[in-house]
Amino acid sequence: MPVLRFAPSPNGLLHLGHAFSALFTWRAAARLGGTALLRIEDIDPERCKPEFDRALREDLAWLGLDWPEPVLRQSQRMDAYRTAASQLGDLLYPCDCTRTEIAARAAGADPDGAPLYDGRCRTHGPRGNRPAQMRLDMRRALARSGKLHIASLPVDGIELEPGAMEEREAAPERWGDAVLVRKDTPTSYHLSVVVDDAAQAVTLVTRGTDLEAATDLHVLLQALLEMPSPIYAHHRLIRDEARHKLSKSKGAQSLRDLRAAGWTPADVRRTLGF
Ligand code: GLU
Repeated sequence: MPVLRFAPSPNGLLHLGHAFSALFTWRAAARLGGTALLRIEDIDPERCKPEFDRALREDLAWLGLDWPEPVLRQSQRMDAYRTAASQLGDLLYPCDCTRTEIAARAAGADPDGAPLYDGRCRTHGPRGNRPAQMRLDMRRALARSGKLHIASLPVDGIELEPGAMEEREAAPERWGDAVLVRKDTPTSYHLSVVVDDAAQAVTLVTRGTDLEAATDLHVLLQALLEMPSPIYAHHRLIRDEARHKLSKSKGAQSLRDLRAAGWTPADVRRTLGF
């Protein structure tokens, strides 16, 4: 039975972009006769708040979506992430370069536009007197994994085309020596998402095209950690009037604001094309 998931971070209120992703996931699960899980991605100790966790569950229920309990919360899974990091062993190395140093020596940009790390601590070791993060030695990781492929299903608007599987070669090297264990928490988005998709036996990952390039790194981690790779489907992003992706940090109108202004769940669905 297909297992899908919606994995919001409780660092703000849900907006129409999240509603699209959630509705897309629940609809795909229903069409495929599968289950949609909710997962709370709250690894960020500074930005994630219990009140946003409560609010997002209420908003999803208001939209008419439900999910099996218990809901997995990443903040309770740090041991699993530590184990995965230790499985990667010497493919990880400590790096204590600061943001400023990394930017000053950047060797280009990663798919998110962040400076690509030049590998200073891989060759010289960390200075040792400041907090360190752990990075993946990309060259050695690729030598171990060999060529990798991503299996995906095409998406047309709100529809998934289950019969039309596509495959492309993954290009994780675009991420350079990615950070897998942050300074402030014993994991990173990339590590925990891979560990939990496997732990929850997710078979189909549905998410926005903004995470399409991250998939390349995720299939590499799955290979290194000997975890199965799910199938991926990347849906369009909801944009504001200026064609920017909606984001909490840019103050996109929340579902709560819309609700307070009189919107019904049916209005949300209709606006998003469901
Ligand atoms: N937690 C991520 C976000 O809110 C989504 C992760 C994913 O779907 O892989 O953007």
